[in-house]
Amino acid sequence: MLARRALLASATAVLALSLAAPASAQPGRPLPVVATFSILSDMVKRIGGEQVAVTTLVGPDGDTHVYQPTPADARAVSEARLIVVNGLQFEGWLDRLIDASDFDGTRVVVTDGIEPIAFEHSEDAHDRDHETDHEKHAEGDDHDGHDHGVFDPHAWQSLRNAAVYVDNITDALSKADPGNASLFYRNREAYVAEIEILHSEIREMIAGLPAASRTVVTSHDAFQYFGRDYGLTFIAPQGLSTESEASAKDVVRLIQQIRDRGIRAVFIENIGDPRLLERIADETGAVIGGTLYPGALSGPDGPAPTYLDLMRHNAKTLTQALAS
Ligand SMILES: [Zn+2]
Repeated sequence: MLARRALLASATAVLALSLAAPASAQPGRPLPVVATFSILSDMVKRIGGEQVAVTTLVGPDGDTHVYQPTPADARAVSEARLIVVNGLQFEGWLDRLIDASDFDGTRVVVTDGIEPIAFEHSEDAHDRDHETDHEKHAEGDDHDGHDHGVFDPHAWQSLRNAAVYVDNITDALSKADPGNASLFYRNREAYVAEIEILHSEIREMIAGLPAASRTVVTSHDAFQYFGRDYGLTFIAPQGLSTESEASAKDVVRLIQQIRDRGIRAVFIENIGDPRLLERIADETGAVIGGTLYPGALSGPDGPAPTYLDLMRHNAKTLTQALAS
């Protein structure tokens, strides 16, 4: 009798599990979604509104490149129906986090369908960085992207790509919660219209810059998509990830480039350490043109509390410094 009841109970549990397994919404409850970093989280909220409950793993001013997931993150992932990720090896810690959780929902890779920019090694200096990195990470785990990565992951720095991100998010939310699909598509339409308007505004802003003022120095290589869209050249002492340190040779070369090209402004970032850039500015006589937001929103009172604010702030900061 006892055994039979236990069997029944476990059969019920199995049934409950299998009912919960597909990525579908429970009526009346917001869809639990995990977004890996603050920019994606903002996009998911714009499309999902009150129908989604978003957990953000790497919050405002956080550095996704070097993030270390917590047990609370694994619990959030276990409960999520969707996990929204950038891909292109931006979240090098993601597979380990998913392995450590009981996630059985859908992984949404928002860069699916974009045209990624290949990252080219400019100098053998990168190989030396690579070795240093392996010495630092003696356990030899597959730390993410920079020198290993084939593509630049910072694809959200293109508003045209952002429209693809938004489409991928809208499709995934609509599959997971078909009852609210028409609402998600309406939200998408309004959001994409704002994205397109901002794209034209930034294009106009930057079109006024003289050809000689179109080279920009930042800490790490995060703005290649922005540069491609608007005709600017970005150079940086660090590679694609904040994880790799600039070598002395990289810094010397950069200082030389700043002098040769007469670059007047360098830009610090909201994530990471400004000291290297401050030293470079000191040595070259360039000014600090302001703070750019490569891959994380600001807090609610900062200049970049949403993705569109972030893009607008970066464009304004760049044009103001480069035009003066
Ligand atoms: Zn980055």
